[in-house]
Amino acid sequence: MLIDNHNRKINYLRLAVTDRCNLRCNYCMPAEGINFSKNDKLLTIPELKEVAEILVEQGIDKIRITGGEPFVRKDLMKLLDHLSQLSGLKDISVTTNATLIGPHIDQLKELGIQNINVSLDAINRDTFERITRRDQYDTVHENLIRLITEGFNVRINFIVLDGQNEQDMLPILEVMKHYPVAVRFLEEMPFNGGSRSFQKIKWDYKTILAHITQHYPNYRKLQSPETSTSINYQIEGHKSTFGLIPSFSRTFCGSCNRLRITATGDVVTCLYGKPKANLRDIVRGADSRKEVKAAIIKAVGSRAKTGFDAQREHTSVFKSSMTSIGG
Ligand code: SAM
Ligand code: SF4
Repeated sequence: MLIDNHNRKINYLRLAVTDRCNLRCNYCMPAEGINFSKNDKLLTIPELKEVAEILVEQGIDKIRITGGEPFVRKDLMKLLDHLSQLSGLKDISVTTNATLIGPHIDQLKELGIQNINVSLDAINRDTFERITRRDQYDTVHENLIRLITEGFNVRINFIVLDGQNEQDMLPILEVMKHYPVAVRFLEEMPFNGGSRSFQKIKWDYKTILAHITQHYPNYRKLQSPETSTSINYQIEGHKSTFGLIPSFSRTFCGSCNRLRITATGDVVTCLYGKPKANLRDIVRGADSRKEVKAAIIKAVGSRAKTGFDAQREHTSVFKSSMTSIGG
């Protein structure tokens, strides 16, 4: 079992399988000039399998596949197939922009992969296209509704962006009230590839809740697991639930159970901190299993207590993009 230096059990891995993406969400990356990693710097599918296996042996029982956009990786389903056979792994989930998932929905079902997070920051087409800089609205909408109606456990991630999509918050709740889906509103974080830096945000979780409350005063708070990053609610008469994720306010660090591995093999113990090790060369070398385990134990043993502490590891404004960290 992995326990960090603040006595937190680490059982949840967020594994990025690529840093590339077919969208260009403006809060995540610049429109162009992005320095994607060369192919040989990315972990191969066999390497991803090995890293996942080792971490499951170390006590990870939940893996979320992320990226970049996971489905731009052509061999993703091979990895998911392998993960679905790992005993000890209780939960496999995927975070996606839902543009490319359509042809894989049946196989995901066959593999028993039910938890899909769909990033969707707009219900209005123009808002969607302005934010993502691409015209994939119909595909995303169609895939989203298909996932929900085919019984997947779907959570929508909606980043609230000042001056861009606040007008879509209530309409998305109104549309989704007919479906069993969780709409989670996230605070914007400063990982956009250097296109915009900020020290504070207008739409923190309290402001988002106040805005929702003005229009839907009748809701109840739901019970959430201790390690959940979202505070969850249900509006009276809605099939859907909604949640708030204080990703910038960082109120949940005390119970953080996550470890991140980027597509290039960096070990990230806090989104706001610097990588603590790189597994790529280790996994390509001799005695890799033992060495990977040792590197993980060392990284987990020196975790910052909070995202604010981790942020102090940086001296300048963050240049990183969420597409390379994995969200
Ligand atoms: N491409 C996939 C997607 O968009 O769902 C997976 C990768 S994406 C980097 C993972 C998550 O990070 C998404 O939910 C996305 O909305 C979120 N994200 C990206 N940039 C962010 C930022 N600057 N602040 C907060 N969340 C961000
Ligand atoms: Fe791509 Fe996801 Fe980043 Fe949007 S948030 S640009 S979909 S990686």
